[in-house]
Amino acid sequence: MKYVSTRGKSEAVGFAEAFAHGLAPDGGLYVPESLPSIPADLLLEETPMPYPALAWDFFNLFDTDHDSDELIALIDESYGSFAETMTAPLQQIAENLFILELFHGPTLAFKDFGLQLIGNLFEHQIRATGETINVLGATSGDTGSAAIHGLANKEGVNVFILYPKGRISPLQERQMTCTAAKNIFPIPIEGSFDDAQRIVKELMGDLEVKKKLRLSAINSINLARILAQSIYYVHAYMQLPPENRNDVHFAVPTGNFGNVLAGWMAYKMGLPVEKFVVATNRNDILHRLFTTGEYESGDVHPSMAPSMDIQIASNFERFLYYHCGEDGKKTASQMAKIAKSGKLKLPNFDPDIFTATRCDDDDILANIQRVKEEYSYVVDPHTACAFQEIDPDRTTVVLATASPAKFPNVIKKAIGETPTDPLLEVLKKRRQKRYPLEPDAEAVREFIEKHSA
Ligand SMILES: *Cc1c(COP(=O)(O)O)cnc(C)c1O
Repeated sequence: MKYVSTRGKSEAVGFAEAFAHGLAPDGGLYVPESLPSIPADLLLEETPMPYPALAWDFFNLFDTDHDSDELIALIDESYGSFAETMTAPLQQIAENLFILELFHGPTLAFKDFGLQLIGNLFEHQIRATGETINVLGATSGDTGSAAIHGLANKEGVNVFILYPKGRISPLQERQMTCTAAKNIFPIPIEGSFDDAQRIVKELMGDLEVKKKLRLSAINSINLARILAQSIYYVHAYMQLPPENRNDVHFAVPTGNFGNVLAGWMAYKMGLPVEKFVVATNRNDILHRLFTTGEYESGDVHPSMAPSMDIQIASNFERFLYYHCGEDGKKTASQMAKIAKSGKLKLPNFDPDIFTATRCDDDDILANIQRVKEEYSYVVDPHTACAFQEIDPDRTTVVLATASPAKFPNVIKKAIGETPTDPLLEVLKKRRQKRYPLEPDAEAVREFIEKHSA
């Protein structure tokens, strides 16, 4: 299987290369040259396969670079650390209503599904090439901790994660700073997430620096991350009772459009789905897109679901590519329009099987209360967004993207309870290790050079 750029101007590459580069040289995102079909017999299974077995069947369709034994080892190691035997268990909370729990990984959020695998792919790449790497990223919380837990104590890689000092939750900070791993460097800086991101972009954008420091990125556009996430949609389907398999709606809390895109790709590969509900918080760029056909980014407003406080949906480009009939030239010209004017009106917009909802902070609190009252289930503030509008006559699978224990203050405000998790309690007793730096690319560059892998 080869991978091509959404902007059509880069050479097709294999899986390992698409993975290692993240972004294609023409600035586009990698997509499979053609989408394979999910083997039909998988979808007829009445009992779900073990998650690693399914993941292996699925990745076999895409990753033709690693041999079978390598791939099995990578997958087993990635999902072996999950606390639940089902890895992504499906809980039924009403006749037509199910919750797919994606928070049983080491950082209690769904990003572990992509980043555990990415960590092992990096490790494998380092072994194969003999070249050490330095991973650099910026985070507003969950991505950084998931990346750190995917790469902690791995040979040949050091990890530098910038985050805005005082602007991520204390628990999220502890998840990054309390690993006790020698290769992890959490870097608080004064300023906002955008300031952190700007420094990362500046260093990654300087090809000389990037090469000299052997920098690699962990970001939401890496195709391996998306594909890893497609798998749990299939796994959810396999856990549904047969009578619930004909009218499935997936309700997905969304920021960067990564998670829901992963589901849509599974649908394009043959997974029977009736609708995807794109659930946003008050940062509603995707809600506006799917209700009006217009994509326009605005200012970011902080919300109670902070991992969705995003106004540029990085993975939108992949959707656009398919929307343009897999035409790289057309996609590139539409992306150029966005770069120039910050917006794009899609002509004859067809939302395909997407619908969208929007949720402000009051709705988030109300949804947490309602779900607790009606179903005796506690959802985190991101998952709460997906409960905004549910069609009672259809089968709905809500994706629970984080554990409520990660957001004790919001849950307390909503229902007066403080959820906990032993993984987080342990962190509270550990010493934090932080490397504060000036919000300045040169200072970060010097630091990486000094602590390079
Ligand atoms: C990152 C994140 C999201 C948003 O996911 P996207 O793939 O960016 O759409 C939702 N919920 C939680 C808890 C997250 O960490």
